[in-house]
Amino acid sequence: MVRAVSTRSTAQLTAIIDSVPIAIVMVDAQGHIELVNAQAERLFGYASTELHGEMIDVLVPDRFRSGHSESRAGFNRNPKARPMGAGRELFGLRKDGTEIPIEIGLSPITTEQGLFVVSAIVDISERKRLEARFRATVESAPAAMLMIDGVGSIVLVNSEVERLFGYDREELLGQKVEVLIPERFRSGHPGLRTRYFASPVARRLGVGRDLFGLRKDGSEIPIEIGLNPVKTDVELFVLSAIVDISERKRQAEALERSNMELQRFAYVASHDLQTPMRSIASFVELLQSSYADKLDAQANDWLRRTVDSIGHLRTLVRDLLEYSRVDSQPHPFQRVSTREVFDRAVSLLDASVRESQANVTCGELPAVMGERSQLVRLMQNLIGNALKYRGKNSPRIHVSAERRGSEWIFAVRDNGIGIAQKHHEKIFEIFQRLHDQQEYPGTGIGLAVCRRVVQRHGGRIWVESEPGRGSVFYFTIAEGTVSAQ
Ligand code: ADP
Repeated sequence: MVRAVSTRSTAQLTAIIDSVPIAIVMVDAQGHIELVNAQAERLFGYASTELHGEMIDVLVPDRFRSGHSESRAGFNRNPKARPMGAGRELFGLRKDGTEIPIEIGLSPITTEQGLFVVSAIVDISERKRLEARFRATVESAPAAMLMIDGVGSIVLVNSEVERLFGYDREELLGQKVEVLIPERFRSGHPGLRTRYFASPVARRLGVGRDLFGLRKDGSEIPIEIGLNPVKTDVELFVLSAIVDISERKRQAEALERSNMELQRFAYVASHDLQTPMRSIASFVELLQSSYADKLDAQANDWLRRTVDSIGHLRTLVRDLLEYSRVDSQPHPFQRVSTREVFDRAVSLLDASVRESQANVTCGELPAVMGERSQLVRLMQNLIGNALKYRGKNSPRIHVSAERRGSEWIFAVRDNGIGIAQKHHEKIFEIFQRLHDQQEYPGTGIGLAVCRRVVQRHGGRIWVESEPGRGSVFYFTIAEGTVSAQ
């Protein structure tokens, strides 16, 4: 409803309209410009006097003009406040001929002089610039990126998405994101989506569980997804980064397969290889003991070498079997006194302790949660190595433990030949040895077993050593729920 206003209040009204930070243009029912505020003057580059009485079409780019008079007529037939050109991009034409992207809100005003239409015009160049920058960033991302709106329609994809899913982007834009989800997960997805939109936070999906994407050709790809809410003034979107993890999965499966093969080999080694090996050994030993005097020196030498090699082979098979059994035959953890573990390991090594006249001692050792037989094997391997890799002096070996934070750090210290820095990592790998059989016999499996045992107990193992200055092998074991002895 329009009320008569005094001249003074018209001036006030004009001042108010000029101070509004939005461009305002009012036209009459025929489209003649009646009023232009200061923002509109600035936006279109005209003085209001230049526009007054002109057709609104002067502010509309040529290519939209014919459509514009039709829309105007349509609005006049059904005049109510609404945004203009919903879903279409709108542009204004400036006096200098340049165009500006705009958004327009229309409001009808009915007066005694007839219908007027007020347009509130917002310059969205800055928003468009930011949008373009956002699109460019998404496009150049090395991962597949896809954005959906609140109803799950795809509004943006980059070329990585096209490559990964095998679609052209035109085929995806406007589609529901569910087209990229395998049938069996599809029905549950809109619910998950709605819940996410209700409380959107950046998060990763697919860690620890299997997610799959559906390609255009019907094949599936294992994926991981990162979700990020993107809020604009008017709407909430979700931008997802999608990573194809097929290769990672393939590698994990190959690793799993080769582990299984190793375990199968260990089984074969224990049941099928050991028996014939034992009989070969005993026949060759029989040959040696019963026919030594009937054979010449050359044949006896060959026999002796054969016996040595069979001995080495048996050790190798036994060690390998033990290595594969660390993980394949796990027993539940229990409270284990590491002092008892130490005593047991030393008694198993009794022969070489005596032979080398070693002095093997220990400090106060705690109780831990673990698997006793494996911890004995760990200690036996470390003390055994300390005895084997001794220097000129008789071995002095000391085992100690120290609590640090929530774990125990064990140390096995020796005064042996030591190890050069460059080998400190390598020696824990299977079959890695630094000496030949003649110098120091061995299979290169002992420390690999140690590392497996420690890892199974949630700890780490490492060495500090220098050639000629002895070695200290450290390993950690979580404190567990029991206290020290
Ligand atoms: P093996 O003793 O059968 O060769 P290990 O895996 O137990 O296999 O050890 C790997 C290598 O690490 C050994 O060949 C040896 O060179 C080195 N090593 C291990 N323990 C010691 C030690 N206490 N002092 C010096 N060198 C060691």
